Amino acid sequence: MATLTFLGATGTVTGSRYLLEAGGERLMVDCGLFQGEKALRERNWRPLPIPAASVRWLLLTHAHIDHTGYIPRFVQDGFQGLVFASAATVDLAHLLLPDAGHLQEEDAGYANRKGFSKHQPALPLFTYQDAIDALQQFQAMDESKPLELSSHFSVRTYAGGHILGARMLEVTVKENGVARKVLFSGDVGRPHQLILREPAIPEPPDYFLLESTYGDRLHPSDDVRSRLASLLAATADKHGRLVVPAFAVGRTQELLYLLRELAAQGRMPNLPIHVDSPMAIDATDLYRRHHEDHNLEMDRLEAGGIRPFSPPGLHLDRTVDESKALNDASGPLMIISASGMATGGRVLHHLERALPDSRNTILFVGFQAAGTRGQFLESGAASVKMHGGEVPVRARIESLGSLSGHADYGEMLRWLARFPKPPAKTFLVHGEPAGAGSMRDKIRQQLGWEVTVPAFNETIAL
Ligand SMILES: [Zn+2]
Repeated sequence: MATLTFLGATGTVTGSRYLLEAGGERLMVDCGLFQGEKALRERNWRPLPIPAASVRWLLLTHAHIDHTGYIPRFVQDGFQGLVFASAATVDLAHLLLPDAGHLQEEDAGYANRKGFSKHQPALPLFTYQDAIDALQQFQAMDESKPLELSSHFSVRTYAGGHILGARMLEVTVKENGVARKVLFSGDVGRPHQLILREPAIPEPPDYFLLESTYGDRLHPSDDVRSRLASLLAATADKHGRLVVPAFAVGRTQELLYLLRELAAQGRMPNLPIHVDSPMAIDATDLYRRHHEDHNLEMDRLEAGGIRPFSPPGLHLDRTVDESKALNDASGPLMIISASGMATGGRVLHHLERALPDSRNTILFVGFQAAGTRGQFLESGAASVKMHGGEVPVRARIESLGSLSGHADYGEMLRWLARFPKPPAKTFLVHGEPAGAGSMRDKIRQQLGWEVTVPAFNETIAL
């Protein structure tokens, strides 16, 4: 009997891991890290309920760590199969996974120096080298035709619109002469993407695993171009700094795209724009190169000889010295730097310099999770802790919530309504309990679909 097991992303937006079994073969879709609360993170240290060596293939919806970050550990545990993903996802994983291994090593080293780990010594979940080793097993899919893995499994992809390389994966599971289509939405992007193709309308599957991150929330409907233009104008007038903590993959490229567009419309003051993040610079290069993911507007710009991510005044700061030099720069400037929630990275130095001065603006462009410095600042904190000191907040704090990698529930429902017929059964995954529950009720009421929220480690017969 063919089965589907939910090994993660149940009751949480992290740890995406799903197992398909048919004819004695095992295939996994996504292999993510659990992130956030300690009880969730501890799951990363527990082995999966099946031997890693028994899984033959791993498929990835996209490169985010909550969908890929367990792979180095999984390989250490004995997984020897191939990891299939879109070409752009394979390239992004080469940036993100070694970086995650490096961070794991840094965290373990920090815990050992401070002596606050109950494990002696504290160990990283995986190292930089583990990540490099695991990448040997990655293979880019030829998406022009179905990927035939065996007599039991074949795979087709659809555009996901979430980040570069994101795909929905349709797995056809065959056993005893019966074929069933299981569709994994991965993370679903918003419609009308700036850069990427928007989420496709897939053929209706038998079983549908749908993400529900924004199942109970709507994005603000602000005019992102006008707000960005007025913040830039204010920064230029006051000779201040506009510091944007931004995720290296996705948000940074959307900002650069918008800045170039504003400049072309004459709505951009004359000030230098610094991207101070080696990973963001590398990711931008991948966004530029992977034409297969671009939407028609991107094709049109490039055909016209326009470089969509190169606004006038752009500087790419790769080295630490270039980053430090920004501290002494005079005159108005904009700095885009990671991390996106101000939890670490080079952006901390820029915040430390910019926060105490009322001429400056800090602009958040992504979701700020509870407990992060970004969230403290967004909620109006008078000061924040940074590098062992207390930094007063006199700068203006702004947020652009409408730049998001996820469709909200309104967009999701309109997208689902375009499916030619309902899936036989829909499972809501990748959502907090409130988000998934709210989404389930809305889909039932508005679309009449059969939909449930699965439990951790629950197995379904297909
Ligand atoms: Zn994602």
